[in-house]
Amino acid sequence: MTSLVFRCQFCERRPDPLTQLSLEKTVRQQEFGTYIDAMPERWLVWHGRGPYGPTRYSCPEHRGDLVAYLREHYGTLGAHPWKRPPYGSQGSGIDTL
Ligand SMILES: [Zn+2]
Repeated sequence: MTSLVFRCQFCERRPDPLTQLSLEKTVRQQEFGTYIDAMPERWLVWHGRGPYGPTRYSCPEHRGDLVAYLREHYGTLGAHPWKRPPYGSQGSGIDTL
């Protein structure tokens, strides 16, 4: 079942099927102000919540843009947007649900 649609917020790109699975898993995670790498394409997920806004996604090419966007908009609220890699990762792409 693939009902969730993920798009890069900068270029509207869609993840490949394996990365889609990883992204679906991150939806169930209750994180706050956290970056997550979604494998295998290595999309970047931002779990905002509360003052940090909605969950946001970027494709591999726009990871830097997402980080810059978050730091510009939420950087004064706390240290979370300033976290540097390595980030936690979700899914190798070969594990099953
Ligand atoms: Zn993109």
